[in-house]
Amino acid sequence: MARLIKGIESKLIHAGEPEPLIAGALSTPIFQSSTFEYSGGANYHQLRYIRLNNTPNHDALHAKLAALENAEAALVCSSGMAAITAVMLTVLAPGGHLLAQECLYGGTHHLLARDLPSLGIEVDFINVEDPDSWRARLRGNTRAIYVETLSNPLLQMPDLAAVIDFSRRNRLISIIDNTFASPINFRAAEFGFDLSLHSATKYLNGHDDIVAGAVAGTEELVSKVRRKLNLIGGALDPHACFLLDRGLKTLAVRVRHQNESASKIARFLEQHRAVTRVNYPGLESHPHHLRACELLDGFGGVLSFELEGGVEAAERLLASVTVPTCAPSLGGVHTLIMRPAVTSHAGMSREERARAGISEGLVRLSVGLETCEDLIEDLKIALSSS
Ligand code: PLP
Repeated sequence: MARLIKGIESKLIHAGEPEPLIAGALSTPIFQSSTFEYSGGANYHQLRYIRLNNTPNHDALHAKLAALENAEAALVCSSGMAAITAVMLTVLAPGGHLLAQECLYGGTHHLLARDLPSLGIEVDFINVEDPDSWRARLRGNTRAIYVETLSNPLLQMPDLAAVIDFSRRNRLISIIDNTFASPINFRAAEFGFDLSLHSATKYLNGHDDIVAGAVAGTEELVSKVRRKLNLIGGALDPHACFLLDRGLKTLAVRVRHQNESASKIARFLEQHRAVTRVNYPGLESHPHHLRACELLDGFGGVLSFELEGGVEAAERLLASVTVPTCAPSLGGVHTLIMRPAVTSHAGMSREERARAGISEGLVRLSVGLETCEDLIEDLKIALSSS
């Protein structure tokens, strides 16, 4: 009898897992075989070979990831950047044009601002706060629009319904990086985005021990991205697939704990006299708080803030905290703290950062699974010296 799997927590455990279980094993074994016996596939993409992302470990993850966002199909990739690159090269060709949110993860911004133009693809950065201004940027060759659910590192939340409406009216492919929300807080494919991307390195895996990416969306688009990825060689190794599948099983409990801790920490920081600004969509002071309340099931585990003393105070804070580790990345069990200007957004010029609203002293905190009161006390002590 088929399993009754409806809720997202049940999907995290059971969706996509082999039926019947292989030798009764509850954890899908790792199929560490680069190639598989030929079984008469009609074309190259049907051969079983790790680079073609189609071992049983990949198949299980694809079905699980699609189920989480209620998407028609999904695909894992060797990193979040591999997912983003494969999607861009699928959707855009030389002579094409992309509209993209101004404030984005630094690696994505670099790819869009520097690498795509060198391939003959034009990119215009748009103010997501002002949907009326998007029309003026539209061209005959515009193919797609790209946003982040909660932007890295300012936690801005675009008007996502307006993005979908604009895409549909103008026959654009709507693409969203849903990394910061994770499918627990927002299911972008179900909401109507054609393609939803993740750095699975972050919340989906959640243990700071692999690099991986994911793409979910319509069957038609995901299968085109799959073929592109097969050729550019962005497959995920089966051992990393196993770790991602294991990490996914606890996604809901991890993210809900992180939502709660980050909300408490954001409120603590907002009250602190050394802190001049806190960016967290769960705060009433956040410009997109009402939108976030309407669209998200939780506000996420990442926040950013600025200190009265700017860069020097931020550096003192980073040197003084004892529970968070000063390291890039986010979404894992460890609380991480860092300055985007010298890490995730170091690839942007100072002017580009200033235009996107990222100050040099901005601090980003990704809240992990430590005891929340320990984190608050540690920040309190560290802030008294900064
Ligand atoms: N998207 C976002 C929002 C990110 O923060 C990152 C990395 O920090 C990426 C994509 C790239 O992911 P990866 O490091 O897995 O390639």
